[in-house]
Amino acid sequence: MSKLAGKTCVITGAARGIGEAIAALFHSEGAEVIATDCDEAAIRGTASRIGCRSEVLDVRDEGDWARLAAKVPSCDVMVNNAGITGFEHGTGPHDPEHASLEEWREVHRVNLDGTFLGCRYAIGAMKAKGAGSIINISSRSGLVGIPGAAAYASSKAAIRNHSKSVALYCAQQGWTIRCNSIHPAAILTPIWEPMLGDGPQRQETMAKLVADTPLQRFGTCEEVAALALLLAGDDATYITGTEMNIDGGLLAGSAASPG
Ligand code: NDP
Repeated sequence: MSKLAGKTCVITGAARGIGEAIAALFHSEGAEVIATDCDEAAIRGTASRIGCRSEVLDVRDEGDWARLAAKVPSCDVMVNNAGITGFEHGTGPHDPEHASLEEWREVHRVNLDGTFLGCRYAIGAMKAKGAGSIINISSRSGLVGIPGAAAYASSKAAIRNHSKSVALYCAQQGWTIRCNSIHPAAILTPIWEPMLGDGPQRQETMAKLVADTPLQRFGTCEEVAALALLLAGDDATYITGTEMNIDGGLLAGSAASPG
């Protein structure tokens, strides 16, 4: 009972982490997966391990999206997953007082512009059929403020809102092109590496990072992929314009007793 048989699915930032897990699960559910990433060597390697097709695509680059549209003119599921925190190269502070405009813009270029272009491509590639599912990977940081990662939080909040505009626009056109956002928190992927380090303090840092998470652990890429599969498939045909948290209970509230 393959859940995505006959569906063409495009995934961005699929060379590793959550994107790779989504590509692998969708492929195992019978989809024709086009795994994309800006890192050519990495995406070729990942796609050959999964057994799916790959394309090089930098989500910031409108030309790359136009090339993808020429090669993959029709798709059923689009996962806008590529994202950066802005801490990848150990650059400067990201708080609202000290962040540089250049770093602020770079985070928005990847996370927000990339998602906008991905949604625009997907609408064009889905409207002939008048159906499809667009899944935008936002974050817990799109729902709450993060003082030390202001650009990341801002870009992820904008993704949440844009997902709703896309959902409403598509519904207005009379299409069943659904659009939803997923809000993960603390999923153990390479995105955390700059914060974890590889010294003796690594385990301690990891424990501290999930200390406020009710389930007291990091989530896995496979757990996020399972949620993406639900939104991608035909079990979710009445779900659009919504946001789904996958955070071990973090956003449910505080477990601490008053006082
Ligand atoms: P990773 O850093 O492990 O993977 C991200 C992938 O996206 C990498 O392969 C990276 O390639 C690629 N990428 C970066 N910039 C671009 C670009 N301009 N164009 C195309 N691909 C690009 O991240 P995760 O798997 O952890 O995160 C996936 C998504 O989930 C992101 O949007 C992230 O913000 C979100 N998220 C993750 C959480 C977590 O705890 N892991 C929590 C909340 C949200 P390269 O290595 O070449 O940069």
